[in-house]
Amino acid sequence: CGIIGIVSTKPVADRLVDGLKRMEYRGYDSAGVCTIQNGKLVRRRAEGKLGNLVTELNGNPAPGNIGIAHTRWATHGAPTAHNAHPHATGEVALVHNGIIENFKPLRDALQAKGRKLESETDTEAVAHMISEEVENGASPEDAVKTVLPQLRGAFALAIAFRQNPDMLIGARLGSPLVVGYGDGEMFLGSDALALAPLTQKIAYLEEGDWVVITRDNAVIYDQENNVVEREVTTSGASA
Ligand code: GLU
Repeated sequence: CGIIGIVSTKPVADRLVDGLKRMEYRGYDSAGVCTIQNGKLVRRRAEGKLGNLVTELNGNPAPGNIGIAHTRWATHGAPTAHNAHPHATGEVALVHNGIIENFKPLRDALQAKGRKLESETDTEAVAHMISEEVENGASPEDAVKTVLPQLRGAFALAIAFRQNPDMLIGARLGSPLVVGYGDGEMFLGSDALALAPLTQKIAYLEEGDWVVITRDNAVIYDQENNVVEREVTTSGASA
């Protein structure tokens, strides 16, 4: 339901949770974060209120200067911690807003190949599909290029790659996603409000766009994988 991602040189967990708090108005039933620290994905999730995630993080911190976070409004799979986002494999962690309509055949195909899915969500299939490409040697960009056209339905995605602790990929089709431009750090968010304390400089992705953000840059692609420019506004976040 709510997405935030940060690529920075400073710890991100507190700011990710703060961004989730700013999106509480959207409603949610569970929440989670994933950072990358020392070449490992560090994932924390909790059912219910954001306070439960904060309690979990107090006991088991998620250090790291890059991460993604999510508040979930369940559509497929009960609102439990193990269905909460981020969904992850050894290589990839991902948060998703929306519905992957063709999740059943996608899940079946993954399971037929022996992959173990551990949630009942539509989302987890996407994490495994991207992971499979990466495990087969694809770059994060090529993995995303291969998988996005296979998805039907509506999505905003933020994706972290264990072996690439300096970049996140975002994508949108039918659900909004914005890019936030900071000073030596960059952001993804469901809306400008989530990013308001972090930056006022926002670019709205258009339908079918996907984006690679690093600490000091964003490269936006359209649905045909052409590099495109999207206007950066400075007023949107103040509303
Ligand atoms: N369809 C996904 C799920 O049920 C995402 C729901 C959302 O937008 O929060 O996990």
